[in-house]
Amino acid sequence: MRDDSPNSWEARADAHSFYGFTDLPSVNERGAVVLTHGQGPYVFDVHGRQYLDANSGLWNMVAGFDHPGLAEAAKAQYDRFPGYHAFFGRMSDQTVMLSEKLIEVSPYERGKVFYTNSGSEANDTMVKMLWFLGGAEGHAKKRKIITRKNGYHGVTAVSASMTGKPYNEVFGLPLEGFLHLTCPHYWREGREGESEADFTKRLAKELEDMISREGAETIAGFFAEPVLGAGGVIPPPEGYFQAVQAVLRKHGIPLISDEVICGFGRTGAVWGAETYDFMPDAIISSKNLTAGYFPMGAVILGPELTDRLQAASDAIEEFPHGFTASGHPVGCAVALKAIDVILNEGLMENVRALTPKFEAGLSWLLENPNIGEARGKGLMGAVEAVRDKATKTPFEGHLSVSERIANTCTDHGLICRPLGQAVVLCPAFIMTEPQMDEMFTKLDAALRSVFKDVA
Ligand SMILES: *Cc1c(COP(=O)(O)O)cnc(C)c1O
Repeated sequence: MRDDSPNSWEARADAHSFYGFTDLPSVNERGAVVLTHGQGPYVFDVHGRQYLDANSGLWNMVAGFDHPGLAEAAKAQYDRFPGYHAFFGRMSDQTVMLSEKLIEVSPYERGKVFYTNSGSEANDTMVKMLWFLGGAEGHAKKRKIITRKNGYHGVTAVSASMTGKPYNEVFGLPLEGFLHLTCPHYWREGREGESEADFTKRLAKELEDMISREGAETIAGFFAEPVLGAGGVIPPPEGYFQAVQAVLRKHGIPLISDEVICGFGRTGAVWGAETYDFMPDAIISSKNLTAGYFPMGAVILGPELTDRLQAASDAIEEFPHGFTASGHPVGCAVALKAIDVILNEGLMENVRALTPKFEAGLSWLLENPNIGEARGKGLMGAVEAVRDKATKTPFEGHLSVSERIANTCTDHGLICRPLGQAVVLCPAFIMTEPQMDEMFTKLDAALRSVFKDVA
């Protein structure tokens, strides 16, 4: 399986590359998969093996791995103006145009955009904006941030503190003042005999209780993904955002929609907030923003936060924040093209067109006696492995079931990602029906072979 000759790609990867978010026993046994190029939704490794990437890279390569228009947009901008910052009252023309476009496609009539290099930094920036506002508006205690368990908001010290995952304990995180509510996963968290609507009510009540316990005057903001992505693809229970937003509005707490995964088409609309019919006070974007062709994130502020942040900045004549590559001209040119490709070249339409087939595929996998739940929205989905379907009992952790499934998929030329005991599917928006058949057929074969081994 792995090529252990001293100069193999696998040995060279091991020697000098520090793996992040990687199951080390698997990579030790199997070797890293070293990739050279891609074509449509497929990637190719150094041994010439082809894989259908059912995760679009990391959710983001939604236009595939060889979109000519996106590469062209980058090349043209590299030739014209290959780099600049957005400090000191200067910025590239591409940056001006991208901000106009983002507000145009946002749910806001007016607003402003701030750029970062990643989704983590965009969340981090939004938190700093809220802290800045608290201070400027005479509410210095307004610093606490509320998110949900299993929510994923990134890896910087602040965004990791927002992320509700147990692995952050190894870093001594979360930082103080980062609070986590129950994960809004009805199948797992719903109580015996509790309806979905009652589950939603309980979660809204939990938020209300948290606010009164902590004091509304100490809470700066609430961040949520419309569908939890890296938490295992968890759509909200019925009426969730309406219930939660009512509580937040009552206490004047901003609702920030982390649309790093949902934004730009993943759920079948431009924004997850549109899919779930709520109006956030600001939007965090990254990943699909450039279709993965350039690292970039953005904070998109609605009118009220725009005005308040503008006033706070005017008062001290500056907003003292920004990254060297914020609003990078090549990134902005690529994002302008990516938005055009997603919205005007039929990609988002294809998400909608493929969704029924995707849902049918998930339901088909659910027929497997060791799949406890199949869930999703638009072109993001997950199937959850269980030892016992009736009691929802998971497989024993030491069996590493989802790792085994993912590794078996890799052996069959399919890349999909293990997440807890679930396997995630989030294919590229350019996927065709036969490619989707290939994805489900290969995953089904892998599930059967692994469940046979661990039964
Ligand atoms: C990926 C992700 C982030 C972090 O983005 P990075 O670019 O990896 O820093 C933040 N929020 C959500 C919802 C994400 O999926």
